[in-house]
Amino acid sequence: MSFAASRLAQVKPSASASVSQAAKEAKARGVDVIDLGLGEPDFDTPGHIKEAAHQAALRGETKYPPTNGTLTMRQAVVDKLRRENDLDFALDEVIVSNGAKQVLFNAFMATLEPGDEVLLCAPYFGQYKDIVTILDGVPVPLICPQEAGFRLMPEQQSKAIAPKTRWILLNQPSNPSGAVYSDDEIKALGAVLADHERVLILSDEIYEHILFDDRVFRSFVAVCPDLQNRTLTVNGVSKAYAMTGWRIGYGAGPKDLIVAMTKVQSQISSGACSIAQAAAAALNGPQEDVRRFCAAFERRRDLVVERVAHIPGLTLEAPGGAFYGLIGCADLIGAKTPDGDTITDDTDVTAYLLKAARVAAVPGSAYDLSPFFRISTAASEEVLNTAMDRIAAAVADLEGIHP
Ligand code: PLP
Repeated sequence: MSFAASRLAQVKPSASASVSQAAKEAKARGVDVIDLGLGEPDFDTPGHIKEAAHQAALRGETKYPPTNGTLTMRQAVVDKLRRENDLDFALDEVIVSNGAKQVLFNAFMATLEPGDEVLLCAPYFGQYKDIVTILDGVPVPLICPQEAGFRLMPEQQSKAIAPKTRWILLNQPSNPSGAVYSDDEIKALGAVLADHERVLILSDEIYEHILFDDRVFRSFVAVCPDLQNRTLTVNGVSKAYAMTGWRIGYGAGPKDLIVAMTKVQSQISSGACSIAQAAAAALNGPQEDVRRFCAAFERRRDLVVERVAHIPGLTLEAPGGAFYGLIGCADLIGAKTPDGDTITDDTDVTAYLLKAARVAAVPGSAYDLSPFFRISTAASEEVLNTAMDRIAAAVADLEGIHP
């Protein structure tokens, strides 16, 4: 007997969580697996943030917070958006939720009618599709190939917009590709959207601080201010401040949308944890740790790009941001493993790497773009070097790699 409602039938468990689960099971069997599956910084939350949580608990901030977020946290978001992103939002245009993920859920639940379409730029964070699907929306992947730098082209976007299109979701720096857009590229996308008033824009900026090669981050609304009245800017503290477990994300957008999202949130969770909000308000505090994390991710990015360049059969162009490497493995398709199995797709590649290299990675199919696999660089340089040694050896053991 199945307990699950029919709406769950199309939603698969998160691919990166499944990979990590497989890695954990192998570890429990005594196999020495390097897990490069999960998208979680390996750093600890900075001390001053923990201290802010401690002090909030001691002050007695232990009651139900306002559903849309504490005044302190919403003010911190308003100040952050002004200081770092050159954006003007009022306190009632901000919502604080249990992670950016809940902001996304609130937004789609508040706005999607059954059958409404949401345009996603593939490769994309797999949960976008699942959230839209669970809410009876229709995810529409727009394939952004490696040749386009994994970026959406304005002509492609223009062709994809249909009468049922309700949202377009943009994410940069991108998980999983690390793609970033120039101001001109964002403007060109914005110019297309200006002609489609029914389409709402969701700009997921959660990796804004993990940006390499001296790039400066520009928020979508800062580049396209005319679209502020139908853009939801989504961000959070998970990635920049190594705070994945605190579950704080936020959204800034038109007041009516925020009110509708708050209505959803009041039924789901009554809002985010008061203590975690007090800690996250430290996003206006010292930023040295954020810069330190970013510098470490950049060194690791360089290391992985350099190592992949010396592995025949694999390709990786330097990602501009985020902490992943989306590694091309087209040349491995059709190759034979030492056990005599044929590699038919990127899921076979990651299964082979888990077995032969003892490295857990996520197949590109999880992001709707194949044949690739994603490794996370949320591991020390030593661990990454060992993982790359193992991957190189496992790939060298394959027969019939097609260059
Ligand atoms: N958006 C993207 C692109 C992500 O990669 C993630 C987490 O992996 C999230 C949103 C969700 O982050 P949070 O921890 O704030 O829910």
